[in-house]
Amino acid sequence: MKLVVDEVLCAGHGVCEDIAPELFALDDSGIAHVLIEEIGEEHLEKAKLAILRCPAEAILLIP
Ligand code: SF4
Repeated sequence: MKLVVDEVLCAGHGVCEDIAPELFALDDSGIAHVLIEEIGEEHLEKAKLAILRCPAEAILLIP
């Protein structure tokens, strides 16, 4: 599964980084970037939680 942050939608709340710092990091502009693009089963649960909690609905999982 490919993990993607839509940088246009991202509003920089940092919720994703709080939930999964191994998957997301905010840059100096406060925009989130993914640290692992192709995630395996071991990261799926946290990725889905970040998707649910992202206030901007800016995180996508692409099969
Ligand atoms: S939770 Fe969503 S809006 Fe906030 S930094 Fe992460 S991707 Fe961006």
